[in-house]
Amino acid sequence: MVPGVRLVLLGKQGAGKGTQCVRLSRHYVVPHISTGDMLRSAARSGTDFGRQVAEYMRLGELVPDEVMIQVVEHRLDQHDTKNRGFILDGFPRTVHQAEALENLLNPRGLDLVLDLEVPTEVVLERLASRRVCSVCGSIFGIDNPPRRGAICDNCGGELVQREDDTEDSIRRRLELYASSTEPLISWYLDRRKLAAVDGLGVPERVTSRLIRAIDNRRHQLPDVGD
Ligand code: AMP
Repeated sequence: MVPGVRLVLLGKQGAGKGTQCVRLSRHYVVPHISTGDMLRSAARSGTDFGRQVAEYMRLGELVPDEVMIQVVEHRLDQHDTKNRGFILDGFPRTVHQAEALENLLNPRGLDLVLDLEVPTEVVLERLASRRVCSVCGSIFGIDNPPRRGAICDNCGGELVQREDDTEDSIRRRLELYASSTEPLISWYLDRRKLAAVDGLGVPERVTSRLIRAIDNRRHQLPDVGD
């Protein structure tokens, strides 16, 4: 089996992080940790916590750092991530979250942070066409349309638009990406953890670029463990 990895995927909303994380998680056999998916599932479950975070999500606002750090700390403490590693999708989104993650992961830290680069006009087009499976969460869109209309290729579930893929929420999320998350690119560059990868093209080609960047880095690491 391929040795585990500890990765973060950065990229604007609609850059293809979710799709690529699923593919990378199969390739490296590590859990895909999407904080957005975790919050959506909490919101669906209707708990107090779910109700609190649902409103932030609907408006496209960020859930407070301290809440998110606790959620991720708990998840990273599970057996699977401890053994194999993880691919983080949607976390960190602020420098404060990145600092907390660094503390949580001491002493080994992350192997690599990938910045999936896609121009804003392309992500806007992708977000407008994005549909997700209401049963299994598979993502479809302009670069990977479903074969049968609004039906999921993988499980036959109904494809729907994400509740926060509205014009106002998309604008707000992209603003917050620019002001709060983009600074992480230079933050990780300064720490020699960053690799930028072109996110344009069909999912298969983007995955090959990501794997190349990750494997290049792993060959440079003294001991990537298992
Ligand atoms: P995503 O699926 O990653 O686009 O996340 C959906 C929504 O969940 C975001 O618009 C935020 O409201 C919330 N969220 C997810 N991850 C984080 C995070 N790391 N920090 C703050 N809010 C988050």
